[in-house]
Formats: sequence, C-alpha cells, structure tokens
Amino acid sequence: MPPANIGYDDTPFLPGSPYRVHDGTRPQPRVIAPPSAPGAAPSDAVILFDGSNLDAWESVNGGPAGWTVENGYMQVAPGSGNIRTRDHFGDCQLHLEFASPEVVRSESQGRGNSGVFLMGLYEIQVLDCYENPTYADGTTGAIYGQFPPLVNACRRPGEWQGYDIVWEAPRFDGDTLVQPACVTVLLNGVVLHNHTQPIGATNHRVVGEYKAHPPVGPLELQDHGDLVRFRSIWYRPLKRYDEA
Ligand code: MG
Repeated sequence: MPPANIGYDDTPFLPGSPYRVHDGTRPQPRVIAPPSAPGAAPSDAVILFDGSNLDAWESVNGGPAGWTVENGYMQVAPGSGNIRTRDHFGDCQLHLEFASPEVVRSESQGRGNSGVFLMGLYEIQVLDCYENPTYADGTTGAIYGQFPPLVNACRRPGEWQGYDIVWEAPRFDGDTLVQPACVTVLLNGVVLHNHTQPIGATNHRVVGEYKAHPPVGPLELQDHGDLVRFRSIWYRPLKRYDEA
C-alpha cells in the first residue's frame, strides 16, 4: 500500500474511472528494472530468443525449428520453413533485431526477405530496402500489402537493425470482428506506423481480411529463402491502466 499522506480524497472523479484526480488510493505502477542498454530486455520481459538456442521455437511444419544458431543469432535455413514460438500471446510490446545478408544477390522483394508475423497472421515486412526500391507496401517495415512505412529508415545490409512493436490484437465476438488490430512500429527508433489498424490478416495480391481467431497466437518468422539473421527477441504482455 502507498503511504497515506500521498494524493487527495476530496477531488472530482475522473470520467469513467473509480479514481479521483490525484487519487492517493490509485494503484501504484508496477516497478520493473529497465533495460541495461537499448534493445536489452527489461525485467518483466518474456525472452523468446537470447542467442543461445531455439528451445522456445518450433517449425510451422511440425517438429523442431530448423534454423541455425551461432554467434548469438539465429539465421534462416532456406527451405526449412517458417518458425513460430511455442508461446502464444496477444497484446504486447515486442522487440527484435535483424540483419540482412551482407552479400547482396538480388533486388526488390528478392533481397533479404523475411517477415515478422504477429499472431502468425499479420506481417511486418523484413526486407533489405537500403537503396533497393520495391513496391511501397512491401518495403521494410510495411504492414505487408496494406500500409507502407511512413519512412525508409533502413541501415546497410549486414548491419543490425531493431524493431520495436506495440501490438493490440483484434477482438472478435464469435465470428464477428468487434475491434480491428492496432499496431505501432519503430525501426531503429524511428516511427513507421503510428497506431495503425491493419485491414486484415496478411495476404499476397489480394486485400487482407479478418477471420475470427483466438485472442492469443504465436510469433512467426518467415523463411523466404534468404539468409536473414535475428537476435534479441522478447516481449512484454500489455495490460490496461490500473491492472496489476
Ligand atoms: Mg516477407
């Protein structure tokens, strides 16, 4: 309990809230230890990949994840298929880092293609768009096939880049969508999407649509045949105000 001498008990109630302005009884924000460095995990994060193994992951085709792990990162093993977390989760703050292949072999969508599929369905594009034009809604950080990133903030191929994503899962009542998903995305600390509502699940050459699904799902990473690397993957479940 907070000390009795903080706050007020004679102020008006906030609209729609059980608490008054400056309410001394309003729950204290949880104390967590912040990251030791940019990109590191705070104390309440769920670690999905710390650079050592793929124990938290599985192949979407069944069985263990077939990607390689060395030097603190995982790398796509082309042809082995997408991988996904065993853990399923919904609203979250997600952090991950990726590096495109240093050796450039192709162009447009053929250059360092992978993807971050939130709940296994909604793709934030991973691509090497450093001096590599492609269709706008397929650019690095695009909500693929729907919204281009606000800017192209790509580093050079081979350099580590960071995604920070705030995700609100869509809400369904039975088969009916009652609230679309909502996502905020930063690449290398730069805002690419500001509280944007995806049109639906990701698809190719058609307009994405929502189809009812559970309130939680896995994080999925795409094997698009390119040697893309990932490291430092963690998330924090997001709660509402005053929820412990
Ligand atoms: Mg992709």
